[in-house]
Amino acid sequence: MSNKECSHSDCEIKTFSGTDKCIFHCKKDDWYEEVNDKKIWNKKLVAKFWEEFKEHKPTIAINQTIFSEYIFPTFKRNMSTNGVLFDVIGFYSFLDNRYVKKLLSLTFSKCKFLGDGEIINIEKETNITLDFNEVIFKDIFKLNLHINKLSFNNCKFENEFHIINSNIKILKFLKTNHLKDSKLYIKKINANKFEIDDIDLSRSSDFIFQISNLTINKELNIKETNLGYLEINDLDISNATILFKNITLNNTKWGNISKIEADRDTFRQLKVANDSQGNYIVANRFFSMEMREYKKELKEKSWFSSDWQDKLIFLLNKIVSNFGQSWFLPLVWFFIISCIFYFPFSTYICGYAYIDFSLQSFAQFINLLSKRADIKYETFYHFWLIHKIISSFITYHFIIALKRQTRR
Ligand SMILES: [Zn+2]
Repeated sequence: MSNKECSHSDCEIKTFSGTDKCIFHCKKDDWYEEVNDKKIWNKKLVAKFWEEFKEHKPTIAINQTIFSEYIFPTFKRNMSTNGVLFDVIGFYSFLDNRYVKKLLSLTFSKCKFLGDGEIINIEKETNITLDFNEVIFKDIFKLNLHINKLSFNNCKFENEFHIINSNIKILKFLKTNHLKDSKLYIKKINANKFEIDDIDLSRSSDFIFQISNLTINKELNIKETNLGYLEINDLDISNATILFKNITLNNTKWGNISKIEADRDTFRQLKVANDSQGNYIVANRFFSMEMREYKKELKEKSWFSSDWQDKLIFLLNKIVSNFGQSWFLPLVWFFIISCIFYFPFSTYICGYAYIDFSLQSFAQFINLLSKRADIKYETFYHFWLIHKIISSFITYHFIIALKRQTRR
């Protein structure tokens, strides 16, 4: 090792092997060979890197640690003869608090992970914040963490990236970049808060972003985002507040969504998105959420304004079929309305002579398909007609509701 210091600003570590940078900042293009798209690493150099990393640990043993523009080689555990050592000096130990007791915040800024890697912390209760800012992940990377916060800001995922079996209080993605065919998997995660901000997945059928088995306990916050081809399975947000702002849904696949706080347009988008995928049952749920928000809007408007028609239709839709959610409700209304018209009206108007409690007569009266009024109602044709009009309206609701429930 020479006596010259690394040319990287703010780095006082000695230069490495004829380069003008230290072992952490130097390019590592010649540290591996690529054979059939797989990197074969120079074990000696990689071992050297992690030894040096261990050496310099005291300098990073403070509350807040920032790795700036570090270029990391692979740190797969079993790649080296001293693989056990990798366990100790890799990031396992870092997040484990065994060596860095006071570490609260670990930031990787403009770093590159050239090889595959895995960051795990064994202790279940840690208060560490892990931030990746403008970091490039070139190879397969896995995170398995129990930490306070994990955030990705403008990171680039070039291969497969997994966050699995983790308990993270705050998980945040802001502006991601990716290469074609790259994959981002979030699986079996328990988070209090999950944030997605400014991500565009609209054109990225070639980029797989999959979320499965995600439980969010407090807050799901998605903004300025085109969720496009996002795939979500087994999302439990039943206890979370959801905030959507300027999001676009197109081909997004949603799982269970039970409790959502959002504006009407967001629900509408969720409804349309699900409708377009043939996911009608979920779409119906979003639709009833949309109506709930619409109700709030209409509530603020007066019956004596130009909006009275909207209010009336809303009220009728709600009463008759709960916005097409119930096919049973229209049947009940049809029966009630028919009884109201048949018994009191027909007897009162037509006179007691016409009282006919037979099912035959009742069926004749309520028959929507009959084009003419029965001879005994001819004198009171307008009442017969009003019943027909109301019944048609109810039947329309019945058909709509049934269609909603049964279409494929
Ligand atoms: Zn350096």
